[in-house]
Amino acid sequence: PPTILWFRRDLRLSDQAALIAAAGEGPVIPVYVLDDETPKHRKMGGASRWWLNHSLASLDASLRAKGSRLILRSGNSAQVLTELAKETGAVRVHALHHYEPWWRNAERAVADALDLCLHDGNYLLPPGTLRTGSGGLYKIYTPFWRALSEHMPPAPPQPAPAHIAAPGKWPESDDLSGWNLLPSKPDWAKGFSADWTPGEAAARERVADFLDEAADYDHARNLPSREGTSRLSPHLHFGEISPAYVWNRLAKAKGNATVFLKEIAWRDYAQNIICQFPAYGRENGRAAFDTMAWRDLREARGDFAAWKEGRTGYPIVDAGMRQLWATGWMHNRVRMIAASFLIKHLLIDWRHGEQWFWDTLVDADYGNNSVNWQWTAGSGVDANMFVRIMAPLTQSPKFEAADYIREWVPELAGLPDAAIHDPETAGRRPDGYPAPIIGHREARERALLAHRKMKG
Ligand code: FAD
Repeated sequence: PPTILWFRRDLRLSDQAALIAAAGEGPVIPVYVLDDETPKHRKMGGASRWWLNHSLASLDASLRAKGSRLILRSGNSAQVLTELAKETGAVRVHALHHYEPWWRNAERAVADALDLCLHDGNYLLPPGTLRTGSGGLYKIYTPFWRALSEHMPPAPPQPAPAHIAAPGKWPESDDLSGWNLLPSKPDWAKGFSADWTPGEAAARERVADFLDEAADYDHARNLPSREGTSRLSPHLHFGEISPAYVWNRLAKAKGNATVFLKEIAWRDYAQNIICQFPAYGRENGRAAFDTMAWRDLREARGDFAAWKEGRTGYPIVDAGMRQLWATGWMHNRVRMIAASFLIKHLLIDWRHGEQWFWDTLVDADYGNNSVNWQWTAGSGVDANMFVRIMAPLTQSPKFEAADYIREWVPELAGLPDAAIHDPETAGRRPDGYPAPIIGHREARERALLAHRKMKG
């Protein structure tokens, strides 16, 4: 009988252990299930759906080049796979492990009905395996990194099988366009394709391009005006490339790659956190934050909208939020500034920001997003202290963001470096650009007061 290969966010043919195992057993039925129904499922956001559409098309083309194809089905994963097995006579399903709570639920349900073989390969080490001296999982990044690096480098990546045997008869497949993953009216993603090419081949090209710049990463990664980072995040999120491949290529790059490898390890750390705290996307890591008096969103609605639309009057924040909307991605330094601004300057619960990022980022990732939001809020198990309040107007010149602001906030493009970070104070705010929606000092005092009143 044929074997089912269940793709999720591991949309590649190289270094894909489930594919290698399935192909070794005979005919393979590769399937992707669009699942919004498994219990606790968190529906994929709009920007991610745009990416998924193109990534699936690319995967199908790569499979066809090897004599196979991709079958598309939608619904509850366990029900869909059971049905597909019945139709085709398959009994075994190969898949890579995933750690989001809904995927774990789906894996349990599939394993109840079919012979499910799970393989590793989406992380440097299987999340949940590294143990502290006392036998628990790591909660703090730095000791996690130390333990992880002792197991590095990861095993050399495996090549894709040369040929993938087809079943005697292909089962029915949905039509990708019928899934309506792309926005129609308005087409808010029209700018995305200038920046991004989803798919495995493009992911590998990004790695190759980045090898030359990696030597300067340590310095350049903090400067939003430069293309100093790899932009691999959506490719890694959708598993178009394996972290083992990235690690092995980068470790051989010119210069010191450690700073970059430490960032890749944050991905593993975040999964290790959601293994321990599956509800991390909605529950505070520190219970004291349950008593924090965030502003009521009904009262703060105007401020929240100004943040989302990049009209806060803080140029660096507005540039970031507009970059996010236009391209589905935001520079990491600016993500930190914009998130901190929402949480502390506007005193809006981090969960609202997390949700907005979830919907608008092409790299929206349950582990990475919730861990970074909770880190910024101070509510995480490993987190920045809430009372350390970032000053956007100081961060902006410090990280040389002038050209970045010019690119994303055209109203300010004519201002000199000396005025562009804080046009209000410089007396140079043009008509059509808003005054700051709250002053830094006033916001800081309000946030610190709310934090002092927190219980515990
Ligand atoms: P590079 O600097 O080239 O890093 C290489 C890879 O390392 C990234 O592709 C990513 O996979 C990983 N990485 C780097 N920094 C982090 C980090 N802090 N945490 C976890 N992994 C990291 N990243 C996501 O992938 N998805 C998210 O939903 C997400 N939400 C975030 C929300 C906030 C509030 C903040 C502050 C950060 C968030 N990040 C998220 C982390 C980080 O901003 C992005 O991974 C990074 O900007 C992606 O760009 P890059 O690929 O060029 O990164």
